[in-house]
Amino acid sequence: MNPEAKGSGVSSVQGLRVPFRDLRVTDPVRRAELIEAVDRVLSHGRLVLGPECAQFEEEVGRYCGRRYGIGVGSGTDALYLALRALEIGPGDEVITTALSWIATANAIVLTGATPVFVDIGEDLNIDVERIGAAITSRTKAIVPVHFTGQICEMRRIQEVASANGLVIVEDAAQAFGATQNGRMAGSFGEVSCFSMNAMKVFGAYGEAGAIVTDNERLRDRLFSLRYNGTVEKQDCHWPSLNGRLDTVQAAMLLVELEYLSGKIARRREIARMYTQRLAGTVQCPVERLGNRHIYYAYSVLAERRDALMQHFAAKGIETQVQHPLPMPRHTAYRERFSADVPVADRVSRRLLCLPNQDNLPLDHVSYVCDGVEEFYAR
Ligand SMILES: *Cc1c(COP(=O)(O)O)cnc(C)c1O
Repeated sequence: MNPEAKGSGVSSVQGLRVPFRDLRVTDPVRRAELIEAVDRVLSHGRLVLGPECAQFEEEVGRYCGRRYGIGVGSGTDALYLALRALEIGPGDEVITTALSWIATANAIVLTGATPVFVDIGEDLNIDVERIGAAITSRTKAIVPVHFTGQICEMRRIQEVASANGLVIVEDAAQAFGATQNGRMAGSFGEVSCFSMNAMKVFGAYGEAGAIVTDNERLRDRLFSLRYNGTVEKQDCHWPSLNGRLDTVQAAMLLVELEYLSGKIARRREIARMYTQRLAGTVQCPVERLGNRHIYYAYSVLAERRDALMQHFAAKGIETQVQHPLPMPRHTAYRERFSADVPVADRVSRRLLCLPNQDNLPLDHVSYVCDGVEEFYAR
């Protein structure tokens, strides 16, 4: 069968370009709202922790069902400051997954603590069965990562944590708006961390992040830690960095929050289309029972991945690998920490993220599917 004859027929269109993501704002209504939000900030001039920051913190806390939100400069800041607020540091071990953006490991290492990498399961998240074996007398915390936008098996993780007196710091950077049995990402940790960098589903127009918690003492500590560890902005109690949320980003994020449920719905629709067409050809993501995956990434496992990427490139389709190296395999860490993570090693060689941004036209989704089918029909 001629593969060109399948699908929507868009594959016959010459010169079609499918970018992995396109961050331009083309919807005129949303664009006007964003410009107006920035304009308001320019008018009031309270650029440093302005009123939009406080409003953003309140709305993010409420969205996640938490008492407090703390705006920070990035997801990396969020994780690092959360661990610092919990007084995790040298001599402590922190259990996390092998497969995440390197920020997760960096945040742990920068506190002086030692990351202990646990292998992943078929949902690409930390394999809860393997956490027990990683616990030692030095273990202080677990940092589960809701990788690609799907929440980890949190009930099991909470059981292991409470049985061993460990605190959970949720890395929900990829999962704002994801749910598990009706509970929001960010509602499972003692402290929970988000990134709102421009690439995330709930993204700013630059760098931004947030932390949520129900613990007032931790909130106050975090307010201090995000501003050089100062109290009353004058006296430094705990050496730290400047990780404040930018007021312009907060203002724009308040607009974006209104669009979030539509964006998630669209990503889920794209995921449904991909899975329907491709399930027999590549290994599609599995949404676990009870989960609402937000598909920050639509990650398939593909045989001959690199050749498939080249085939896509020749068709004008841009794909990405998130992430080509498991965290313990990065140059900074591979000789420093041993990690026996065969599943993550194997998966990272086959992982491929297909374009799935909410503004991706559905005929482009078909065109991507055509590309996969052509490649494996050869
Ligand atoms: C994006 C991301 C981070 C870091 O967030 P930044 O805002 O880029 O600093 C941390 N963890 C995970 C899982 C991420 O995807």
